[in-house]
Amino acid sequence: MSKLTIGLVAHDNRKRDLIEWVDFNKIILANHHLVCTGTTGKLVKEALSKSKSNEELNIDITLLKSGPLGGDQQLGALICEGKIDLLFFLWDPMQPQPHDVDVKALLRISSLYNIPTATNRSTADFLISSPLFDSDYKPKHKSFKEYNNRSIDL
Ligand code: PGA
Repeated sequence: MSKLTIGLVAHDNRKRDLIEWVDFNKIILANHHLVCTGTTGKLVKEALSKSKSNEELNIDITLLKSGPLGGDQQLGALICEGKIDLLFFLWDPMQPQPHDVDVKALLRISSLYNIPTATNRSTADFLISSPLFDSDYKPKHKSFKEYNNRSIDL
């Protein structure tokens, strides 16, 4: 099993869900590298440091900027560069966000690059418990050659 780089993001009303989920799955997540938007990552770190087994787990976490301050875009850029293997993005469908366009952009880019993406807790449960999670599964990557070589009438 290779070490995966896993993006974690949760909007404020979804943070409790994500933190509970991280705590429940910490033994699995400890084998991987977590890349989080700022506030989500801070809370993940705090939750794991309260957990007794965290010292032994020594989870590798990278904190990006807070989502509304560009963190979603940083994560999207990492996806474009092929540096994110899975995305757990618990976004809030009930509250407008100041960075709505960035939210949409992150969801779009994860779809474009065929990144396994969970946008709610039940899908997060399915993803992490999939037999493919612990395999060397590599999602198919579409070639953008045709798009890149398209002719433009000037
Ligand atoms: P946050 O960002 O983890 O910094 O709160 C999440 C988001 O709103 O995208």
